[in-house]
Amino acid sequence: MESSYRPEEAREVLDQWRLQRRSIGFVPTMGALHAGHLSLIERAKGENDKVVVSIFVNPLQFNDQSDFDNYPSTLEQDRTLLEDAAVDLLFAPTASVMHPMPMNFKVAVGPMAEAYEGYYRPGHFDGVATVVAKLLLIVGASRVYFGEKDIQQCSVVRRMVEEFHFPNRIEVVSTYREEDGLAFSSRNVRLTASSRRVAPLMYQNLQKAAKSIREGQDPSFVINSAIEEVATVAKEANVDFQFDYVDLVDETFGPVAQFSEGLRIVAAWTLDGVRLIDNLSV
Ligand code: AMP
Repeated sequence: MESSYRPEEAREVLDQWRLQRRSIGFVPTMGALHAGHLSLIERAKGENDKVVVSIFVNPLQFNDQSDFDNYPSTLEQDRTLLEDAAVDLLFAPTASVMHPMPMNFKVAVGPMAEAYEGYYRPGHFDGVATVVAKLLLIVGASRVYFGEKDIQQCSVVRRMVEEFHFPNRIEVVSTYREEDGLAFSSRNVRLTASSRRVAPLMYQNLQKAAKSIREGQDPSFVINSAIEEVATVAKEANVDFQFDYVDLVDETFGPVAQFSEGLRIVAAWTLDGVRLIDNLSV
């Protein structure tokens, strides 16, 4: 695997591949790699001649400094995982390389970034859009892979790519889960033993809620019952449980009160201060 730390180093390798007419798949990540990331890489390997992975913990997308400070960093372990996954190029820039100071330019996302994650994490999607735009310009990939776990991020990126006429294809990969249903996330390593036991309940209960909604039950009633069950178990386990939102939404992330095709339940909650997100189709 080749490694590069600066855009010009990465371009030297990438230009060579483009000259050889190789297709390039790109998986942007913030590192602390897990099986979810590896599922994106595996898909990219299957669809492209060469695969590039970036590791960059983007300070612009953290609205909470302590979340940024506590974000796990395991670069050497990540490098081994990427070698084992036969990735062709790792791009791992520093913050000063990626965002030279003073920063004069940022991507400003419009109203689509105001709900849910955008509401609870002000500035988050501007930070995501800015770094993704830069990464796409540096890598020049044929296809770029994002996880459905961050469903709102997928819509923001898709829309940006459309509006700015980026030449890349955006591919969305389904959420990869632990056996008990918990979505793999870099933040899972910060869960205590007791909060880890509570963590899968949200998805498990929301799956049941989704089934009841499909069968015609009232969405807000079944979603509230799902939340209450998580709250009860968390309390028994002495785990602090808070939630930002658990809602039934349509593809524009507007809330809906009734079942129709193409709806999803989106959820964000914290267990002992570790913030988790998930979503599932109804
Ligand atoms: P992150 O390192 O958290 O920024 O994630 C990098 C990419 O991996 C994003 O496109 C995420 O949506 C995706 N991803 C994270 N967790 C999972 C998962 N459990 N299943 C599938 N994709 C994931």
